[in-house]
Amino acid sequence: MRTQPAQSQPQARKKKQSEKAVILGRRFATVKVAKDRSFNVHEDLICSRSEYFKNLLQKNRKELDEECAICREGFEVTKDDVVHCQTCGQNLHDDCVAQWHTRGDDKRCPFCRAAWTPDSEAKTIKCQSLDVDGFDTYVKFIYGKGIATYTSESNNHDQRTLRLCKAWIVGNIVDDKEFKRAIIETLEEHIEDSNQLPGVEPMEYLFHEIEDRRRHGELHIFMLRIFKTKGSNVTSMWYDEIDSPWVCTFLKCLSHELLNPTV
Ligand SMILES: [Zn+2]
Ligand SMILES: [Zn+2]
Repeated sequence: MRTQPAQSQPQARKKKQSEKAVILGRRFATVKVAKDRSFNVHEDLICSRSEYFKNLLQKNRKELDEECAICREGFEVTKDDVVHCQTCGQNLHDDCVAQWHTRGDDKRCPFCRAAWTPDSEAKTIKCQSLDVDGFDTYVKFIYGKGIATYTSESNNHDQRTLRLCKAWIVGNIVDDKEFKRAIIETLEEHIEDSNQLPGVEPMEYLFHEIEDRRRHGELHIFMLRIFKTKGSNVTSMWYDEIDSPWVCTFLKCLSHELLNPTV
């Protein structure tokens, strides 16, 4: 019984939490990326994958390995609805809080006494540095759909490569290593299957500024390795672009990679 007061069940054993469980939770967040394109995502799900989102949405939230402050039982994330206080970050069973709140008009946190924010009040956060296409791929991934293939890009090698690059950069910003790894694997398969080197659009996107090159280290190293191993007929591929600053940056990076290999 969860509805008993805490002091009546001091011996309740903590339940083990599965690390790989997908936690959806009940609360939604609206993430506005780039120039205000909105995505609604489960707050617990995205925070369980990304420190970036945890800092923005659930900075104070305590770890789920603690127990519910009302019933003193642990949390089983695949079975229990877990809510948390927006002020003190204490996790509580949803039904424990509901029971607590039926005892009076006082809709407060039983732990810190702050006014309780209902689940229906979704937070909105602005993340202008996140690319729309890349974030769309990320959202599909966290909901278990793998790295999505978009119909509009199925026959367009460079559009697909460009989206994968944008998605990797989103993964880098939100710090989701599993997603970044999945993107690199997909990129590798995509380039291998099509037997085509990335064209102007994705390469310009990646090499247009030195600052960006620093920020996207692993992806650049991957691309340089592709050109190094598959041959670099860049002059014919990018003939019209050869005077562009990004080509110059790319060639400098490629020379550096050939002379001082990182892989
Ligand atoms: Zn409880
Ligand atoms: Zn509280």
